[in-house]
Amino acid sequence: MGSPGAGKGTLAARLKALRVEHFSSGDYFRREIERRTPLGRSIEAAMERGELVSDEMTLQLLRQWFWGRPASRGFLLDGFPRTLVQAVNFDEWLDVRQETLTGCLLLELPEEATVERLTGRRVCPRDGRLYHLKSHPPANPGVCDDCGSELVRREDDEESVVRHRHELYLESSRPLIEHYRNQGLLWRFSAEGDPAEVARRVLDRFDLNFIES
Ligand SMILES: [Zn+2]
Repeated sequence: MGSPGAGKGTLAARLKALRVEHFSSGDYFRREIERRTPLGRSIEAAMERGELVSDEMTLQLLRQWFWGRPASRGFLLDGFPRTLVQAVNFDEWLDVRQETLTGCLLLELPEEATVERLTGRRVCPRDGRLYHLKSHPPANPGVCDDCGSELVRREDDEESVVRHRHELYLESSRPLIEHYRNQGLLWRFSAEGDPAEVARRVLDRFDLNFIES
């Protein structure tokens, strides 16, 4: 779990040392939409209306993944569960398969750091390449290294929007954080610093000898 800009996807990609399956619900949603399944079409319609994907649709999709995977293999979930309803359902599935969660990783980034990280992002409108004014600037200010297009800032990354998204996240994540804290599963990490540093912090918490055996 983590607020917008905390770097969940980036971290997940750096946790290969855990040798577990990385499951990103966002990627799974996109794949389902591309395959034009009935569920994919419902998800697409919800997104086009600017709504969140409902618990029902999310659970339907996650059910396919969860019950189709080998029980012996660990996993790292990214983007699920997002609501208490999803988390409670997920607990039940885990119970049935007698599987347990090792921990719920929570990446925390203070509001000011979030604003700095997200408002500095620039994207190439032609090929989607991402840049950051501070941490990953283009070779020539304001233009894409690959195609020379003028870089833009997404509406989502405007300061007022970023502050609003951060606030919404804090509010909506509270019950979920409480849920995992009550189970003694909450592992909190600072998301400040570069991605390698954050990944190091997280990996240090795992007993890798146990996971690799
Ligand atoms: Zn470009």
